[in-house]
Amino acid sequence: MPIVTETGFQTEPNLSFRGVEALAENCKNLTLDVDPDTEVDVLSDAFSRIDLIRVHFDSFADGRGFSLGRRLRNAGYRGRLRAAGHLISDQFRYALECGFDDVEISDALATRQPEHHWIADAPARPTYREKLSDVSARLPEAQHAADRARSALRPVSLYKPLANVHEQVVTQVTHYTDGLFSFRISRPSTFRFRSGEFVMIGLPNAERPVFRAYSLAGPSWDDELEFYSIKVPDGPLTQHLQRVEVGDTVLVKKKATGTLVMDALLSGKRLFLFSTGTGIAPFTSIIRDPETYEKFEQVVLTQTCRTQAELEFGLNVVAETRGHELLGDIAGPDKLVHFTTLTRDDHPHTGRITTLLKDGHLFDAIGMAPIDAEQDRAMLCGSMDMLRDTGAICEQFGLVEGSNSRPGTYVVERAFVD
Ligand SMILES: Cc1cc2nc3c(=O)[nH]c(=O)nc-3n(C[C@H](O)[C@H](O)[C@H](O)COP(=O)(O)OP(=O)(O)OC[C@H]3O[C@@H](n4cnc5c(N)ncnc54)[C@H](O)[C@@H]3O)c2cc1C
Repeated sequence: MPIVTETGFQTEPNLSFRGVEALAENCKNLTLDVDPDTEVDVLSDAFSRIDLIRVHFDSFADGRGFSLGRRLRNAGYRGRLRAAGHLISDQFRYALECGFDDVEISDALATRQPEHHWIADAPARPTYREKLSDVSARLPEAQHAADRARSALRPVSLYKPLANVHEQVVTQVTHYTDGLFSFRISRPSTFRFRSGEFVMIGLPNAERPVFRAYSLAGPSWDDELEFYSIKVPDGPLTQHLQRVEVGDTVLVKKKATGTLVMDALLSGKRLFLFSTGTGIAPFTSIIRDPETYEKFEQVVLTQTCRTQAELEFGLNVVAETRGHELLGDIAGPDKLVHFTTLTRDDHPHTGRITTLLKDGHLFDAIGMAPIDAEQDRAMLCGSMDMLRDTGAICEQFGLVEGSNSRPGTYVVERAFVD
């Protein structure tokens, strides 16, 4: 089995690893195998007798091993720390930052991801070892700024796992503008949600992490969870969340909820999804759910933003949906209509959706009849102002607000709290 270090692949003589029960024997120079949920207290009294701790990662989506690495280092463990099992080269840098010295991989993985994959992913920032030997003191100021930014995200020593919270691993991050990004995380095997719902998420960067509501932007059948996020410069959560990288941990509460769900709407023929800004997030879930097209003959998704760049996430999702090998057949341009409007940049359609609904521009532009309460249904997600004004227009069309307990002909969800 190759051992991956910062300088490349190495081999070592076979070591005999033992379980934590070996601690009771009072021997020295121990080499221990531990599970990712091992309590640090079990090991801390014996740190001086341990040469090597090998932490097992059961799946590459399981972030508990990283957390254990950091907790061991923060508790004062100075011996070698090894990650073993399901890790990939993308996670190597993060493993080093968490305090691991090396990663043990299988021969098969070494063939798939040869040495240069891992070395390319080696850290630009000081690792735990470098910090210990105070190399970081000689780094330029820009590097220190980067470290300070990172440490705001990761003083996880304070975070103690919470019973109602899953710790998940970031698998992808995409930035669209200075104010918007999306990210994907691993999905807990027990986590269920209905397309359109939201969940509370946070970061493990404090004893009592800040949690915020987030719409689940991916469909309920996806293997991972996807989110689309604002970056509020001093926002308690998003000032840190906007810096997440692949391999980082995001906390997800165990229960999803919300009113933008099929269960809260009576059946109909056309479904109008009205959104502004990040309010598109629940709808990028709904338009990727085959059930939506079983229940409605046509779906009209509208998004209003200020600038063209702010439309990118929604445009990408619609394009992916139409190009998807299974969804493409049921969500073609005749079934899924996408209407975008901007309030600042030039665009074929400009102005607020309320204006375009009232003056009929929307219906002319998409070549459809105006809303008919007998057969049309609507979902709204945006600011309080947008919900109030668009909701009033829906009611003028004869729609009646519904909820999970009393389905109606339109439903609303706030995209954020002011
Ligand atoms: C049901 C629900 C679902 C939500 N889903 C999402 C989502 O999918 N994506 C997302 O980015 N946010 C979403 N939010 C908002 C989210 O909960 C946070 O408010 C946001 O992430 C900012 O968190 P923060 O702690 O950094 O700042 P906060 O203290 O929460 O917010 C600071 C200020 O920033 C503004 N603001 C916050 N969020 C937004 C936003 N999304 N768009 C425009 N202005 C905003 C508000 O004026 C707010 O007062 C949702 C909120 C609710 C209630």
